Amino acid sequence: MDQVLLITGASRGIGAATALQAARRGWAVAVNYASNSLAADEVVRSIRAAGGSAITVQADVGDEAQVMAMFEKVDAKLGRLTALVNNAGVVDMQARVDQMTVARLERMLRINVIGSFVCAREAVRRMSTRHGGSGGAIVNLSSAAARLGSPGQYVDYAASKGAIESFTVGLAKEVADEGIRVNAVRPGLIDTEIHASGGLPDRAFQLAATVPMKRTGSADEVASGIVWLLSAEASYVTGTFLDVTGGR
Ligand code: NDP
Repeated sequence: MDQVLLITGASRGIGAATALQAARRGWAVAVNYASNSLAADEVVRSIRAAGGSAITVQADVGDEAQVMAMFEKVDAKLGRLTALVNNAGVVDMQARVDQMTVARLERMLRINVIGSFVCAREAVRRMSTRHGGSGGAIVNLSSAAARLGSPGQYVDYAASKGAIESFTVGLAKEVADEGIRVNAVRPGLIDTEIHASGGLPDRAFQLAATVPMKRTGSADEVASGIVWLLSAEASYVTGTFLDVTGGR
């Protein structure tokens, strides 16, 4: 049976690197994206050129109807899901808490937290032995920010990742005897476009000196951890966190 993996936010950055690595290891990959269809198409093209199997699936993970349609497309085109990476996530412009609007907070929590919950819900409905599935694995993307708090930059983002960590612990225990493992990866300063989307394109490089290893990490270095947690090599690992932070 094919191993079917849905990765949210897989058109760029950590999600794209994970898609490429997982496809090389034999997963059929659904590459989700929000709006950048050209980038998502390029990820799928690279996977297919290397002999792998992949499709694109557009959906804003913060929109329940779009998430439902996305899972139905994966069911129809790739078959029953066996793994999910809740990778889609956003930051916002640098701000203090005393400047944050409710609109900003709602967007942050809707995409980063509710999006991950709804995608996990749909995955559990397909993978849990309780629902007739044959098990699977979920990896959630937290951040070192959950530990550090991101003061003066985006405490809202850090708090959304704190929520992802509690979610990981709780869901892991809830479905542990239903064949599903749930873990999280905490990237540190990784060289992707997310920093530019928060108005600080050089953020990772500027902070590199504060990292014990004195450098930023690559999307591929994070993807390796994610793919390991998804794999059978991690068969007794659930409810845990893997820091990929260069020691930060
Ligand atoms: P990028 O900004 O490079 O890529 C974001 C991806 O998410 C894109 O594929 C984008 O799609 C997609 N996306 C954004 N919003 C939505 C949405 N509403 N619905 C569906 N997809 C969406 O991010 P990174 O690769 O840097 O980050 C990936 C994850 O890792 C995030 O959860 C982030 O918080 C976490 N992380 C990153 C760190 C870093 O330093 N880079 C550090 C710690 C954690 P599109 O191309 O269509 O816009």
